[in-house]
Amino acid sequence: AEVLQLLRMDDCNAHGVLARRADALDGSEADPTARGVRGALLLASGSLVNHECLPTLARFDDCDAGSRSSATACSTPCVSFRTLHAVPRGGELSLSYVPLLWDGEERRARCRALFGFDCRCARCRAELREEAEAQGKEAPAAGLGEEEADWRYVDVFLLKYVCARPGCGGTLAPEAPGGSAAECNVCGAKRTEKEFLEELQALQE
Ligand SMILES: [Zn+2]
Ligand SMILES: [Zn+2]
Repeated sequence: AEVLQLLRMDDCNAHGVLARRADALDGSEADPTARGVRGALLLASGSLVNHECLPTLARFDDCDAGSRSSATACSTPCVSFRTLHAVPRGGELSLSYVPLLWDGEERRARCRALFGFDCRCARCRAELREEAEAQGKEAPAAGLGEEEADWRYVDVFLLKYVCARPGCGGTLAPEAPGGSAAECNVCGAKRTEKEFLEELQALQE
């Protein structure tokens, strides 16, 4: 069992840093020693970033320096994080460790298997409540300050931030802070705000 655990830790560390879970720190986790992955990368700042299924950050890897044509391209190999939208002061920065378009069961299973935690983010809570209601069960009680995501918000979020290129699944983030064009962190595809609004309108018609 010890070896298994070591192997598992190794697996986890390839993707992130094991640390006490955020919910263990604020006391809402029953087991105060519960460990999960707090970061997506073995980077000083990256290791502080929690997972959320509606993240506020996207990670841009630029391993071949200058391979990115955007204005924010680095001249040396680098990893950078971009906020998808304005984050209120003090708001949490988060990354999704799993593809945003996966369904809830898949996302939570991957988080559990690879990172050792059960995701209970706003999007997951909304999904779990709907699931429970469909099965005629009582929805899990929400903790203090635990809001559920609104479905319309989730739909618009996915349309706005998930790359539409077939099979890509990357995340679109502004090319430059406050800029109106977004760039995919996987395939590099670009989309202007105007194009997004047209897609949104087409969807609502
Ligand atoms: Zn989640
Ligand atoms: Zn893409």
